[in-house]
Amino acid sequence: MPINIDASLSAKAKQIILSANDIVVTCHVSPDGDAIGSSLAVYHYLKSIGKNVTVVVPTAFPAFLKWLPDARNILVYKDQRAMSKEAIKHSDLIVCVDFNEISRLGEDGMPDYVAGARAKKLMIDHHLYPGDFTVLTISYPLASSTCHLVYLLLSEWMQSETLPTDIAQCIYTGMMTDTGNFSYNSNDPQIYETIASLIKSGINKDEIYKKVFFNCSAGRIKLQGIALNNMEVLEEYGTAVLSLSRDELNSQSYKKGDTEGFVNIPLSIHNVFFSVFFKEEDGFIKVSLRSQGDFPCNIIATDVFGGGGHLNASGGEAHNITIAEAKQKLIDALPNYKQYFDVELAKLQD
Ligand code: 5GP
Ligand code: MN
Repeated sequence: MPINIDASLSAKAKQIILSANDIVVTCHVSPDGDAIGSSLAVYHYLKSIGKNVTVVVPTAFPAFLKWLPDARNILVYKDQRAMSKEAIKHSDLIVCVDFNEISRLGEDGMPDYVAGARAKKLMIDHHLYPGDFTVLTISYPLASSTCHLVYLLLSEWMQSETLPTDIAQCIYTGMMTDTGNFSYNSNDPQIYETIASLIKSGINKDEIYKKVFFNCSAGRIKLQGIALNNMEVLEEYGTAVLSLSRDELNSQSYKKGDTEGFVNIPLSIHNVFFSVFFKEEDGFIKVSLRSQGDFPCNIIATDVFGGGGHLNASGGEAHNITIAEAKQKLIDALPNYKQYFDVELAKLQD
């Protein structure tokens, strides 16, 4: 189904933007390609219409996104607290892209600071269940990326199918990364109509692919090897479990973003439709879950690891337990989801 942004919502959003002067754009903690892409696309648009704009993101973003136009101007709240707070305090509008709940702004006080700011908030997002902290919410959970929503809005607001190249580069990056280079959530013709317009806008999609995906450290590849070496496959559940301990991460000078996408790898195994990756962060275990078909990994993320997310991509956390215990917690819980496993197991082929 193509996404059709409600015309009155789009017009109201534009009005809110036009009546603001000092604007902050922000996105979720541990920003990914869609979060940074949509933030910078909105930033470039707002600058082009004469606004004073600052992108403030909760925590650092991966090095493979640093080439995006003006990425170097992004403030990281965790590392540049004073400047970030200053921008938020003086803003009259905060555009919230690619997140649905104020808590997704992280754990460093940014949620409270943004919630308490005098600025109006405007949400542009594609996660389920948008929270109630904005004056206007543009939420389309069926959209494959926030960047695609941003394209639809900007092409409407700028009255042009093509966009400035810098904006188009940011948008393509988010569309590409949030669909695994158009390998999931990506069967709608509208996505390819949009890509055609982005290419007409001057992007080189093959170059963007290389910049994002052929740009990793040797450490990342080694960590991938360690994670895969740790893999356990539970054939009777069509499930695979990966893990990386703190020591293993440290052994390869782990940097944020180095393990991005690892959780997807086991899904390429014949008859594996559910993959879970445990990563020992400082003080807790981050759990990433991915699934294929109708298997609702977000239900397990919510029930077992206090998190949430989408049907096929979700996350959560485990506190005060070891990685081995967190894995066992998952394995012990699997029988409770027999009804969902049975649906997918019945679809498997020899
Ligand atoms: P990732 O595994 O890439 O960190 O997260 C995938 C998706 O799961 C995110 O887009 C987000 O929707 C959701 N998610 C990840 N971690 C959490 C979490 O701790 N809590 C909630 N509610 N959702 C999460
Ligand atoms: Mn997204």
